[in-house]
Amino acid sequence: MKKVVFTLLTAALITTVAAGCGAGGKNAAAPSGGAKTETGGAAKKPVIGVAIYKFDDTFMTGVRNAISSNAEGKAQTDIVDSQNSQPTQNDKVDLFITKKVNALAINPVDRTGAGVIIDKAKAANTPVVFFNREPMEADMKKWDKVYYVGAKAEQSGTMEGQLVVDYFKAHPEADKNKDGTLQYVMLKGEPGHQDAELRTKFSIKAVEDAGIKVEKLAEDTAMWDRVKGQEKMAAFLASHGDKIEAVFANNDDMALGAIEALKAKGYFKDNKYMPVVGVDATAPAVKAMEEGTMLGTVLNDAKNQGKATFNLANVLAQGQTPSKDNIGYDITDGKYVWVPYKKITKENLNDAK
Ligand code: BGC
Repeated sequence: MKKVVFTLLTAALITTVAAGCGAGGKNAAAPSGGAKTETGGAAKKPVIGVAIYKFDDTFMTGVRNAISSNAEGKAQTDIVDSQNSQPTQNDKVDLFITKKVNALAINPVDRTGAGVIIDKAKAANTPVVFFNREPMEADMKKWDKVYYVGAKAEQSGTMEGQLVVDYFKAHPEADKNKDGTLQYVMLKGEPGHQDAELRTKFSIKAVEDAGIKVEKLAEDTAMWDRVKGQEKMAAFLASHGDKIEAVFANNDDMALGAIEALKAKGYFKDNKYMPVVGVDATAPAVKAMEEGTMLGTVLNDAKNQGKATFNLANVLAQGQTPSKDNIGYDITDGKYVWVPYKKITKENLNDAK
């Protein structure tokens, strides 16, 4: 009896191990954790090569995380850091193409470099979705399997300007020298980036459109970076001091840097205030708004931008034609997915969380 039980157990064990090996073998060929088909076999999941311009960017980290979480169980994403170098990114794209990924999702380092990537992708017939840094229109037209996911830069600029307009209208004392003109400083993102150029332009246009005269005291790039934002703001304060009546920053990281520099000069206590606005609605910016330092921001929806980028790349990777039905987002002009911005103040902070 004992021998029979032992034999049965051994047989069962061998069967289990063999079955396990088989599945493991298939899984090893397919991306890990491959989805099971109805017949129980492992279906091969699409592989998507994703390149971020640099990992060390607060907003892009949010987009990157959204891409990964949306891919779970659906596709294998290979996400690489281009380390803020276009040649490095081009090498990574070459590698993806050699590995025969099914689609590319690229956040270009230099948006004028997208054309070269499109040529490579087209030659290999690998569809490509760009995101966050908008390629030139002429490049977008080079091939029909090229898409872009982003947000309308001018919209974020306009909203940022309106935040300051609302503050000025509600707080006449904000015109410190009572000259009827808003004296401001501008912290710009990376020159040439559509968000840096258009936020700079449209934020001020919104103030002027509201009938408020403006005077630019200073403008400089802080490259989207918090530490640089602090340094540039310290320099603005050194040369213009209390003449400054508002701070516009093209993103939250630079706005938060500016707030640090202002704190060092005694702002945000004893009734010394400065309206500072940014864009993104990152977690630290929301916290600063709760603390009463940052006046307002504009939600740059990392979650939906990441989701739309993934959905689009995933559909393309499977050889399908993207549509609202299979990606869940409207496609404009057959190529663009625009994710809306939203104005965030202390009143609707929950929308940003
Ligand atoms: C964001 C910035 C970010 C940049 C990266 C912009 O849309 O507002 O925070 O640094 O994209 O390209």
